[in-house]
Parts: sequence; structure tokens; C-alpha cells
Amino acid sequence: MAAPVLSPSARGFVPLQLVERTNRRTPNTVALGRAPRVHLWHIGCQMNDADRERLGGELADIGCVPEAALEDADIAVLITCTVRQKAEQKVFGKFRELVSWKRARPGRSIALTGCMAVEHGDALLARLPDLDYVFDVREPDGFLAKLQAMHAIDLDGPLPLPATDRLSAFVPVINGCNEMCTYCIVPFVRGREQSLAVDEVVAHVRRLVDRGVREVTLLGQNVNSYRDPRSGARLPDLLRAVDAVDGLWRTRFLTSHPRNAVPALFDAIAELPTVCEQLHLPVQAGDDALLRRMRRLYTVAEYTAQIRAAAERVRPRLAVSTDIIVGFCGETESEFAGTERLMRELQFDTVHLAAYSVRPGTAAARRPDDVPLEEKKRRLNHLLAVQREIAAERNRQYEGTRVEVLVEGVSEDGRPYGRSREGKVTWLPAGSATPGTLVAATVRHSTAWQLHADPAAA
Ligand code: SF4
Repeated sequence: MAAPVLSPSARGFVPLQLVERTNRRTPNTVALGRAPRVHLWHIGCQMNDADRERLGGELADIGCVPEAALEDADIAVLITCTVRQKAEQKVFGKFRELVSWKRARPGRSIALTGCMAVEHGDALLARLPDLDYVFDVREPDGFLAKLQAMHAIDLDGPLPLPATDRLSAFVPVINGCNEMCTYCIVPFVRGREQSLAVDEVVAHVRRLVDRGVREVTLLGQNVNSYRDPRSGARLPDLLRAVDAVDGLWRTRFLTSHPRNAVPALFDAIAELPTVCEQLHLPVQAGDDALLRRMRRLYTVAEYTAQIRAAAERVRPRLAVSTDIIVGFCGETESEFAGTERLMRELQFDTVHLAAYSVRPGTAAARRPDDVPLEEKKRRLNHLLAVQREIAAERNRQYEGTRVEVLVEGVSEDGRPYGRSREGKVTWLPAGSATPGTLVAATVRHSTAWQLHADPAAA
């Protein structure tokens, strides 16, 4: 199958400028008599979740009401994903729903941003006649300026963002990726790596803490490649700066590349009080030849040494999770066996398993996708069963030990639940804790995916 040609913006890593429909029937200036309300919708990875949060703040800064309910909104913004074909289909499904919403009241408009915007650009306007704007969420200034021009008389300066009911938030710190793994579309749709400055990130975290957030996850497709564009500070330095924010309880970071997992990072996890004892380090495969075909640029032995060094440094325990792709182009039985061997050897707490599917436009799309679907499913199910055993054993080691739980909510049967510092979902007895509190608890019982704990005596 020939790979479709990527949009010029995706090929050249140039941020997409605002594209708008020129033969619009709606006037360019709309008087509402109140601040315009924007409905935000997103799909895909945590980066899109964070982009939604950031775009909401930027809309409030120009005087628009972000996060409006759809029925009350004047503008709907879709933050999209293109990593899998299924995600794109969901976006088109959501768009179809919005068409009747838009036609129900004159003056409403629909904007599309995120990875599909960068990959397809203005071709989307031709394909979707009710779409008004396409913009790059990394560079929303053109779109924001357009809203300011259209609604000038209704905009009355920045709106304060209300307190949030979320305890945890994602904070993007680096966008894009320089790695070019052969199966991945991210470098084409997110471009080259671009880090925010430490003081910008810290200011963002402070604003979130002021609104009630207690846990932040610093995000990037390749977060441990972070480098402050001015000072050159790296991720461990950024973690130190964020750790110092008053009122913040927990800091995590996602997602790391093994090439940048350095001892200073493990030191930061071990030393900084808010930084949780959790490391997500995607390995993708447990065979060197397979890793080379994926262009991952490390060996199984190097990866193993890193995990061992991290566990050695972060005592008494570090939860390690990873991503694995099964059925990549030409994956042999013996390469697949290497992946299983690595899982058994390193005993991951969590493994995000996915069967390989071709992403048009990537280097791997030019190779034969020659592991039959049935075989991919068999390998996937086999590794899922292996991981269930390993996770059960990992969690059994928590029984009788203390965990710290950030209580996030209460289930219908009255039991509070939250996550431990290691990221484990933990349940407490009914009535024993309230959301938004930190509880020290002793693990009574565990399963492969959850811990059950009792609050410890004071
Ligand atoms: S490091 Fe991650 S985001 Fe970057 S190309 Fe590889 S898989 Fe994609």
C-alpha cells in the first residue's frame, strides 16, 4: 500500500497557521451581548488533555468562557488525534453530531485542531463543509486573534478560571519529538521538540495549585529530553523547580525515552518529596533486531541496565511501567519470545500492550505488515496473561506495607478510592476517608490491578 503524502506542514515541521473558510455565510463580526462561550472536546493521549487545559486558559485570557456545555456554546473546538485510524473515525463521528448543533442557531462555528489538523491541514475544510477553522493547537494565536476580532464588542478582558474539581492535572513541558521511531506518526504531526522555559512551567503549576490541583504530571512525547530553551536546564532541574511549589503534593512525568533516562533523573525521583516513585519507560520490544527495525536506538541489555539502576537508586521500591508493541513488521517467534523473556525478567508493574497497526506516512508503512492479524491477537493475549501473573505478584509484595493514598473519589457503594504514590489504584473501607485528602494506609489484600488497604492508625 502506498503511503499517502503528508501535508507540507507535517513534512516540514512548520506550525500550521489558522486556516478558515473564506466563503462563510456567517458574518465576520457577531454581537452576542455577552462573553462568547466555547465548548471544548478532545480525544487521544494525555497531551491532548493538557492542550485542552491550556487552550481553556488562553480562551479565558482573551475573555471567552471555556468549557461551556455544548447546548450553551457559540463555538465548538475539537482537539483531535491521528495516532490510530479509529481515533480519526471518532472525530468524524463527533463532527457529524456537531453539524445539527451548528445549524440550530446562526452564528455558531466549529474549529478543529490537534494532530488531524496538522496532518490534513486545509484539506479538512474541503472534506467537511460545516467546518469553519483549522488551527495548530501549539500555535493558537491566529485562532485567538480571530475570536477577538469577531467578538470584539463582547470581550471584556480576562475571565478568572473557576476552582477546579480535579485534583490532578497534566502540564505539557515539551512538545514534539526528535526520535523518528519507524512506526510512529508523532514527529510528523507534533514536529521537532520544543520545551517551555522552567519559569513558564512553574507559573502554570502555581496557577493549577491555586485552583485546587494537588498532583501534576509533566508531559511530553519524550519528556526526559526536556531542555529549557534559555538556561539549558534538564528534566531533573525542572522537577526540582516544580517540587518547590507550595501546596503541591505530588509530581509525575510522562513519557520517557530510554535514551534519556539518566542517573540524575533517578536521583530526582529518590530525593524530591513530591516526585512519585514511578517510572514509565517504554521498551516496545525485547529483541535487539526488532528494536533496530523500530529505530529505537538502544539494546535490550542497555534498557535492562537502566531499569536495574533506577530500582537500585529509588528505595525501597519503584513502580515501573512500559509500552510494548506486538506483531511489528517481520516479528519472528524468537523475537516475540525475547519480549516475553524481558517482561518476566524485569517484572513490570504495568505493561501497555498494543498490536501493531500501520500508520500511513511512517517509515514502517513502507515495510510489509506481515504478521497476520490472528497471530497478532494470539501474541497480544498471551502477553496480557503473562502480565496479569506478574502484576499480581508485584502487588502481592505490597501486602502488609504502607502506602500513601491521594483520595480521588467515593464509589457508589461508599468506598473511597485513589492512587498510591506508585500509581496503584487503591480502595479504602467505606466511610474511612474523604476526597482531596492524603491517607496513610496498610495494604490488606491485592489483585493484579488494585490494592485494598485500611487507614493506618495515626
Ligand atoms: S519517541 Fe515516542 S513519540 Fe517519539 S517517535 Fe518514538 S514512539 Fe513516537
